[in-house]
Amino acid sequence: MSNEYACKKCNRLITTKSCSLCQGAQASKNWKGIAVILNSTKSNIAKKLKIESNGAYALRVR
Ligand SMILES: [Zn+2]
Repeated sequence: MSNEYACKKCNRLITTKSCSLCQGAQASKNWKGIAVILNSTKSNIAKKLKIESNGAYALRVR
């Protein structure tokens, strides 16, 4: 159970229903797994998820 949303576009975990980075993108509470990216330029996970900035991300968003 979580009160956090995950952006359907960039997978970023957010506390609001809309992502501030992806304007107009929907956020979902139906997500699984957390990837915390501390160094997006060196992280393999970040490359896989196409993440370009540091933060907490969901691995899967529906
Ligand atoms: Zn987003």
